[in-house]
Amino acid sequence: MTLTLTVPPRADADRLTGLPVAVIGAGPVGLAAAAHLLEQGLPVVVYEAGDQVGTSVRAWGHTRLFSPWRYVIDDAARRLLEPTGWTEPRRSSLPTGHDLVAQYLDPLAQTPELAPVIRYGVRVDAVSRLGMDRTRSTGRADTPFLLRLHAANGVEDVTARAVVDTSGTYTSPNPLTAAGLAPAADLGDRIVHALPDVLGADRARFAGKRVLVVGAGHSAANTLIKLAALAKDEPGTALLWAIRNAGTARLGADAADGLAARGQLGSNVHGLVESGQVEQLASFEIDDVRPNGDQVAVTGRREPFTVTVDVVVNATGFRPDLDILREIRLGLDDIVEAPRALAPLIDPNLHSCGSVPPHGVAELAHPEPNFFIAGMKSYGRAPTFLLLTGYEQVRSIAAELAGDHQAARDVQLVLPETGVCTTDVGGSSSCGVPATNEAAEGSSCCVAPAPAAPPASSSCCTN
Ligand SMILES: Cc1cc2nc3c(=O)[nH]c(=O)nc-3n(C[C@H](O)[C@H](O)[C@H](O)COP(=O)(O)OP(=O)(O)OC[C@H]3O[C@@H](n4cnc5c(N)ncnc54)[C@H](O)[C@@H]3O)c2cc1C
Repeated sequence: MTLTLTVPPRADADRLTGLPVAVIGAGPVGLAAAAHLLEQGLPVVVYEAGDQVGTSVRAWGHTRLFSPWRYVIDDAARRLLEPTGWTEPRRSSLPTGHDLVAQYLDPLAQTPELAPVIRYGVRVDAVSRLGMDRTRSTGRADTPFLLRLHAANGVEDVTARAVVDTSGTYTSPNPLTAAGLAPAADLGDRIVHALPDVLGADRARFAGKRVLVVGAGHSAANTLIKLAALAKDEPGTALLWAIRNAGTARLGADAADGLAARGQLGSNVHGLVESGQVEQLASFEIDDVRPNGDQVAVTGRREPFTVTVDVVVNATGFRPDLDILREIRLGLDDIVEAPRALAPLIDPNLHSCGSVPPHGVAELAHPEPNFFIAGMKSYGRAPTFLLLTGYEQVRSIAAELAGDHQAARDVQLVLPETGVCTTDVGGSSSCGVPATNEAAEGSSCCVAPAPAAPPASSSCCTN
């Protein structure tokens, strides 16, 4: 492995001049960030760990979004796409993840503006300041950021004037146990990441098997619905569903949900439990997961204390990977691991599905100047992120970095109306406790514009 050092000499009068803004991750929000930064006239480089844009979206690409097209396209991105002859998908139809990539992210990444600034196959392993760990303060704000990149051909250090971390959370699933720790034993492929392609590429892993799905959110519901379809064709397929809360599932089962596809998802999984196609294990807090021959034994705190299955789908939600930010001064909430000012706005434990105002640079700031976490990762462990929210975040950040502080603080968000605020499948009346795996995965928030932002609509959001 070689280490390349591409950093400016320390004697530069203005050490930030000419340096790009570094965006970590080329998902929907990372690309939107790049579009807004370029629109503001700022140089930008996007570092993407995968070989293509939307690597995480591709991983769950067989899954249909609950938001129609009109809620998943960023405005600055659209302004880049329109001159290329791009055809905007029908605004009312629901894309799958693969559609989102093929009809939006791929064309966006290929625009003449974005194509030259995206580097693929480059994982950001660490972020720091040039010659300064997190303990050094003098001149910190004027010192370039240092990013350590890991690529197939070696390790490279590069500098940036600002950093926007939009690396998502999809690659950091919550562990299965109630304690939040990974199972002590190595379980190999007996544990499967959320949202497997049950009816496609992963079919053989589930056909004729006894399967336990763990988690209370839409990822679990999605998987259970597909597993039930599989079970009709594959005799011997048995489905169990462990949730942490008590009660009967009612995930998004409200006809008034502004995102109708989400409401339908909840109704469908509820029906599977009622018809007996899915056996629900309520109040099943997992203490231990260990191999049992070719199977896996999962031990909970309520009867049946141990269930033995062939495969477990971990749909307990996601958490941010903060390891790469070890040398950055973060201001994160102790519970949800979102920026401190943002956490109370998205914390369903505090809000009980109340309104979350639109937010931007003011709520996303950290003690580290010119460093921001945006997109899915900005919500930390809260499962309530919506793409439109992320697009407004990066519009605000780009305006701030361009020096337009007024525009940065004039945050607006127009979201779909909804009559539903809760998707707590565990049966409790609130949105659950975000610090816990299942409650977090199964909860949902409502997002509404700030008083100044018209119109006064609101929306539920969850993943
Ligand atoms: C199944 C599912 C359905 C969803 N449906 C909706 C919906 O209908 N509506 C909605 O608004 N939201 C939805 N969401 C929520 C959310 O909008 C998506 O998760 C969205 O992909 C988040 O975008 P992002 O850009 O923040 O992160 P991601 O899409 O996760 O992108 C992060 C990118 O960063 C890259 N990366 C990660 N680590 C590094 C690193 N260290 N260095 C370099 N690159 C890195 C990854 O490869 C990835 O390409 C859904 C989520 C899921 C999982």
